[in-house]
Amino acid sequence: MMIVMKESATTEQVEAVIRQVEQVGARAHLSRGELHTVIGAIGDRDHVANLEVEGFPGVDHVVPITRPYKLASLQFKREQYSVFDIGGRKVGGSAFMMIAGPCTIESRDQMLTAAAAVHEAGAQLLRGGAYKPRTSPYSFQGLGEGGLRLLAEAREETGMPVVTELMDIRDLDPILEVADVIQVGARNMQNFTLLTEIGRAGRPVILKRGLSATIDELLMAAEYVLKEGTETVILCERGIRTFETAYRFTLDLMAIPVLKQRTHLPVIVDPSHAAGRRDLVLPMSLAAAAAGADGIIVEVHPEPEQAICDGPQQLRTGEFADYLRQVEAVAALAGKQVAETV
Ligand code: PEP
Ligand code: MN
Repeated sequence: MMIVMKESATTEQVEAVIRQVEQVGARAHLSRGELHTVIGAIGDRDHVANLEVEGFPGVDHVVPITRPYKLASLQFKREQYSVFDIGGRKVGGSAFMMIAGPCTIESRDQMLTAAAAVHEAGAQLLRGGAYKPRTSPYSFQGLGEGGLRLLAEAREETGMPVVTELMDIRDLDPILEVADVIQVGARNMQNFTLLTEIGRAGRPVILKRGLSATIDELLMAAEYVLKEGTETVILCERGIRTFETAYRFTLDLMAIPVLKQRTHLPVIVDPSHAAGRRDLVLPMSLAAAAAGADGIIVEVHPEPEQAICDGPQQLRTGEFADYLRQVEAVAALAGKQVAETV
């Protein structure tokens, strides 16, 4: 339930509502807008039903939130989409964000070459994995802290904010030293203790949809992060497992408009991991932009043939600028601009 206070509401009146929320055993989530202060009453449905704050002084109106997720719901933001600022780059609303870089950080040369190429072409955020969730325990698991140091160097050289995956909460501190955005991979989407700890860290998050997760499960996972006070959560559709074997996963483009009906959080798409094949990355990116995605996260490598991981799906650095121009053109048709890189 959301309690919208009058413009003229005093601090005492806001505090009285918060006390009432807490008294019925719910949690109060305060957000102060330009005109109105809104108090979210979060908790057990039966507790919230007993609130009866409609008549309280300073209360303008009360909006019931019918979805199982509250902070993630579009209702919670009064039907306004969130726009986030990540190191001066915007995502959400009319801002389309292009995030690009290699699957995994392999070497100084590979990381810096990829970073320079995507930066020059106009990408806003740089990706690169130092801790990799690999299906086989015998596959390369990432360079770990050594990789983070290379990512920090690429960040320094290009000035681009960076995103990298956190798989294990024990790696949080080194990741917080480097990452502007923490990625939660598909395989950890429902690792609730990890989500809670990440939510407490306060850093922006890209939350990837689990391989077999429904849209509402993705939103409930986001709720775990939001509940701890992190407001900057970007959702990522990256393909789901279906019976089809002609490509790696099935990119669920319908998730974009459906998520837009349910949440204020920005929605981006990862065509690389969905496709598993380079030739499908451009058409799926164009389709995602046309369907209203707020951005794309795509893998780009200077020499995909030499890549340690996900080579067949990574775009070549040399083709990235042309790829980006085409995606930008379709995003513009959907009313979104790739923000200027500063
Ligand atoms: C990745 O982005 O590097 C990755 C492993 O993606 P996913 O978690 O979607 O498989
Ligand atoms: Mn990859």
